[in-house]
Amino acid sequence: AHLDRIGAVDEKVHAFLHVDAEGALAAAERVDAKRAAGEELGPLAGVPLALKDVFTTRGVPTTCGSKMLQGWIPPYDATVTRRLKDADVVILGKTNMDEFAMGSSTENSAYGPTGNPWDLARIPGGSGGGSAAALAAFEAPLAIGTDTGGSIRQPAAVTGTVGVKPTYGGVSRYGLVAFSSSLDQGGPCARTVLDTALLHEAIAGHDPMDSTSIDAPVPPVVEAARAGDVRGLRVGVVKEFGGEGYQAGVEQRFHEAVELLSSLGAEVVEVSCPSFTSALPAYYLIAPSECSSNLARFDAMKYGLRVGDDGTRSAEEVTALTRAAGFGPEVKRRIILGTYALSSGYYDAYYGQAQKVRTLIARDFAAAYERVDVLVSPTTPTTAFPIGERADDPMAMYLADLCTIPSNLAGNAAMSLPCGLAPEDNLPVGLQIIAPAMADDRLYRVGAAVE
Ligand code: GLN
Repeated sequence: AHLDRIGAVDEKVHAFLHVDAEGALAAAERVDAKRAAGEELGPLAGVPLALKDVFTTRGVPTTCGSKMLQGWIPPYDATVTRRLKDADVVILGKTNMDEFAMGSSTENSAYGPTGNPWDLARIPGGSGGGSAAALAAFEAPLAIGTDTGGSIRQPAAVTGTVGVKPTYGGVSRYGLVAFSSSLDQGGPCARTVLDTALLHEAIAGHDPMDSTSIDAPVPPVVEAARAGDVRGLRVGVVKEFGGEGYQAGVEQRFHEAVELLSSLGAEVVEVSCPSFTSALPAYYLIAPSECSSNLARFDAMKYGLRVGDDGTRSAEEVTALTRAAGFGPEVKRRIILGTYALSSGYYDAYYGQAQKVRTLIARDFAAAYERVDVLVSPTTPTTAFPIGERADDPMAMYLADLCTIPSNLAGNAAMSLPCGLAPEDNLPVGLQIIAPAMADDRLYRVGAAVE
């Protein structure tokens, strides 16, 4: 049924870069055979899923939305991919994304943009716009995204779906093609809080193949999503997230969600996190710096594209020609910015300074968590904007992640879930919930209460 749905609508939505109909049907048949044989089934047996094209899939193309990896077929599965298969999930295919996960609109994909199912002329968010659009268009009930600065939560917000960035280290990064290793985090996406929790539990947990993976039990997210009780919970409204630059309807729906929490028995207080206003500039030094280092591996020798290798050119020339042809403008912008920020003489002034800001942000969070159990804010300052509107204005594009970036810099857990439509444009508004590291269950408790 889901393959039929994809066949019917994806020409317009363009959520998928690759539909693996054969693999999906074979996986579904394996589930049927297991069931017929009376074998024990995985927790998500037979449930279809859309996988962001940044996770490696053995024998199935993985492009990261880039020409650089066109035609690359990974020889191994990411840990997330393997855990999905172990849970008997049916992987439908790979979803569209901003190239190497750099962007907030999916317009930076080398394979063309994805439309927002609420209005195909608008962006579905990014970088994981394909996964969010697949959910909103009912092409899949579950999806996987990655969130380096907001790429799970911002697409969830603008498509009226649910997305969670787990605590950094909560879900393995093995086989997740790296953008910014100290920030990247894979996570679950779905249309309900409980579905998201079930998927969270299936993919999370310690992995010896990822040195930053946390070796501790997965927080009880499914139990929390089933409970959904916020009585006595202390909720902090982040003062810095609102006012100028925020759409009136977004603020209105957000305040209604806060009132709902209060009416359900939560204790709402205002908290101030003054360093959050420096999060965006710090992120746009740290993420490009790590990107410039990580993307050095695309040298035309090891993976994918190779341009100009006609026997007359040096390896350096072939590398340069390939990188010139294979990377899009946003990726090049970040490699140049990151290389500059890391170069000697500038390192302390830029990268070192950004790392200090990161510490200040972590301190703001720590101080807030002394007073409250979770923080809330709008997920994004505005609803989905028209495709093309911010394409030539990187600064305007970067503002889409104003509210999501602090939790990546601090490594804590965060969710976006729908909180109604903005009255002025009838487009979905996202409520962001942020919890301390390893307290991911609190997101689900609050999310299930207000859903
Ligand atoms: N939009 C942010 C960026 O462009 C975040 C991307 C992400 O989370 N992968 O870097």
